[in-house]
Amino acid sequence: MTVWLANTAFRAMCEEGAALHPLESGGIVLGWRASNDTVVIDVRGPGPQALHGRYRFLPDHRWQVAEIHRLFEETCGDIDYLGDWHSHPDGSSAISSEDRATLRRISRRVHEPLMLIIADDGSQESWITGCWKGRRHRGLIYRRFEVVIESIKLFEPPPNWTIE
Ligand SMILES: [Zn+2]
Repeated sequence: MTVWLANTAFRAMCEEGAALHPLESGGIVLGWRASNDTVVIDVRGPGPQALHGRYRFLPDHRWQVAEIHRLFEETCGDIDYLGDWHSHPDGSSAISSEDRATLRRISRRVHEPLMLIIADDGSQESWITGCWKGRRHRGLIYRRFEVVIESIKLFEPPPNWTIE
């Protein structure tokens, strides 16, 4: 299973990450699913009322929800919310236990959500990415949540795919 990440979306995350460096920032990941693969065509930032700390950030949830609804309607449902992204300034792209808890929370309302992480080496010039997917398994007498790593492939979207 592959996450196809538009390099325009990747650049947008890197720019937001660099602008808030050394504080953490993030936002939402937008796109669609195609059988087993996921296409990330765009991202949004944290929103105007977000709070940024060194090792965590609190997004402007109301703004993000409004943005998701707006894009869903404008694209007739082609573009939907896929999950969250955030930066690990001077950190690794590995998923933390807090990130797992966040992914678990998202998975209660979104099917197999993504958690995309960008991390830099301190130079703010080269960012690496990591992507995870949360999966809920519901048995008759058990409930299990697992986090699986996804492979990321960058692609160049045609210019007319840009969403305003
Ligand atoms: Zn994190």
